[in-house]
Amino acid sequence: MAKHIAIIGAGPIGLEAALYAKSLGHDVVVFERGCVAANIEEWKFVRLFSPWLLSTTSLGRKVISGIAPLLPLEQYPTARDFRERYLLPLSRCSLLVGCVRENNPVTSVAKDSQGDLPFRIGAKDEAGREYVERADILLDCSGTYGSPRWAGDHGNPAPGEPELRDRVFYAIPDVLGQHRDRFADHHTLVIGCTYSSAIVLRDLQDLAANRRRTMVTWAVRRPDQAVHPILNDPLRSRGRLVELLLRLIEHPPGWLQYLSTAVLESITATNRHFTATFRSNGRIVSLMPDEVVSLNGFRPDNSMYESATSAAGPIKAAALDREDKAPPTFATGGSGSDSSFFVLGAKSYGMNSNFLLQAGHMQVCEIFTVIEGNENLDLYQ
Ligand SMILES: Cc1cc2nc3c(=O)[nH]c(=O)nc-3n(C[C@H](O)[C@H](O)[C@H](O)COP(=O)(O)OP(=O)(O)OC[C@H]3O[C@@H](n4cnc5c(N)ncnc54)[C@H](O)[C@@H]3O)c2cc1C
Repeated sequence: MAKHIAIIGAGPIGLEAALYAKSLGHDVVVFERGCVAANIEEWKFVRLFSPWLLSTTSLGRKVISGIAPLLPLEQYPTARDFRERYLLPLSRCSLLVGCVRENNPVTSVAKDSQGDLPFRIGAKDEAGREYVERADILLDCSGTYGSPRWAGDHGNPAPGEPELRDRVFYAIPDVLGQHRDRFADHHTLVIGCTYSSAIVLRDLQDLAANRRRTMVTWAVRRPDQAVHPILNDPLRSRGRLVELLLRLIEHPPGWLQYLSTAVLESITATNRHFTATFRSNGRIVSLMPDEVVSLNGFRPDNSMYESATSAAGPIKAAALDREDKAPPTFATGGSGSDSSFFVLGAKSYGMNSNFLLQAGHMQVCEIFTVIEGNENLDLYQ
């Protein structure tokens, strides 16, 4: 029987889930707080380390084949190409017409036993008016990119940091493009040891090759905790990023100062520069960088469930906060055999940054075997 399925987030995984659900004849609404694939739009200048084959699904490729040019499956797209040549056509394909509501953020989610449809989803329309939608099944595909961790100890804000949130880059800056002038021949402080910081350090390295006064201080809390080599990593360019980080740690080049075991104690700023104070290997280090880039990963934002935890029917979001080495394929909410609430995509990995699109495609496939009660169902075959 057709179900009414609500999906939070029109990122790559929300769209694939919507397509899968519509292909099975369900009724679907996708709430998106910005534009389609809004988070990917933020880092559109980055080249993916997955080729088209692993970034897309056979179902998606089939659906867009009539409306967008075919993609060479072995090539590595930029995030811009991925969004414009795959995700946008997907969101506009005939199956999803009328399903995706851009600029409609979800503000609350609750489960109530009254009424036919168990989920109450509070959202705002494009004019900012609040409304409530009901659904049988809720898929949270809202990602984590909107909630960066702070630069202070354990992802908490360092003294002075909240006041500077609009001046610090908490998302990957376009070092070689839009933001070039802010970094060229300037001193940048990069905090964090993630794939995103590796992308920024690689770009700063390229910039420093031409603009010789470019300087970087790279402060890392615990390098072993974040990025580490994956044995026989099939994604070569991801492997190369890790190799770059290890090389920079072992042999810092002239343009780079490496601060290990560094905890940000405080940060302030004048109109001209920041003053950042670190505790590093038992000593206090003070720096005066022109720019600060803090890339310490992301945390899931569970604020939309706040009302749900006090509602009669519980929605358990606690599982999302885990920082496991081996994350769940997906997290289900509710108790026992509840198979009506799922967290998919990057958010299902909590603070673990190893999520890959391919894993999200497998989650989509897997949850519909549960929803349909058919363990052999696989529309990607
Ligand atoms: C720089 C970078 C490079 C990466 N490269 C790769 C790669 O090469 N290969 C790979 O497999 N993976 C890669 N990843 C990891 C991962 O695949 C991406 O992060 C991917 O975008 C996750 O997809 P998602 O749909 O789970 O979440 P997102 O892409 O984050 O999408 C979530 C969507 O939900 C929306 N949203 C959030 N909150 C709300 C709300 N309250 N109401 C309504 N909408 C909301 C957001 O606006 C967004 O559009 C990369 C990640 C980053 C950050």
